[in-house]
Amino acid sequence: MEERNWKSLFEGEVERIAEPYKWDFTLDNNLQKFQGSSPGWLEYKVYTVGRFCCSLCTRYWDSAHVHLLFLMKIARASRCGTVKMRIFKQKCRSCTRAVMEKPDISQENITIVIGNLVNRIESKIYLRNNYNKDRKPVVYDNYTEGPHDKEHCEACQAIVCHTSMAVPGNLRTIGRNICLVFTLAVIIFPIIFWLDVKY
Ligand SMILES: [Zn+2]
Ligand SMILES: [Zn+2]
Repeated sequence: MEERNWKSLFEGEVERIAEPYKWDFTLDNNLQKFQGSSPGWLEYKVYTVGRFCCSLCTRYWDSAHVHLLFLMKIARASRCGTVKMRIFKQKCRSCTRAVMEKPDISQENITIVIGNLVNRIESKIYLRNNYNKDRKPVVYDNYTEGPHDKEHCEACQAIVCHTSMAVPGNLRTIGRNICLVFTLAVIIFPIIFWLDVKY
């Protein structure tokens, strides 16, 4: 049901730019962001607003960190495009045996996400200039969000959520080297200057 809803909204929206590709849209609950570095896959990460409900205690909570991951690829020879989507879950912090729950995302916010996704396909895959800015999710009046609960967020655990984004190893090395050069400059230059003055 959920997949059909996303899929049919995607098919309706992609219609306006579909030619010459035929697009396929699937939900994949095990999709990993690191597949995005595989050749040909384009990665798109977004957040939207949604509500979670614990299936054990029925407590509900709102989140503006409902994380969605899309991977897109086209096969130019067969003129087929593929979109895979994962919706990250969250679990209740009151129940010790809580399970990861799927969010309830409004039809309005799903439509906004799909519109932004198709704009992204148009600009990054079809390489067409479109001037459509990303639309932000709608936050409803009864919305009540506390601080983001990383421990109970599937995206944070999968190192996808922006609050726990890992720094790639090569960037860490560059950062360390910059620190080392800076430290040496701070220590060595005054010594050289001091020796110069002394002699
Ligand atoms: Zn609960
Ligand atoms: Zn998170």
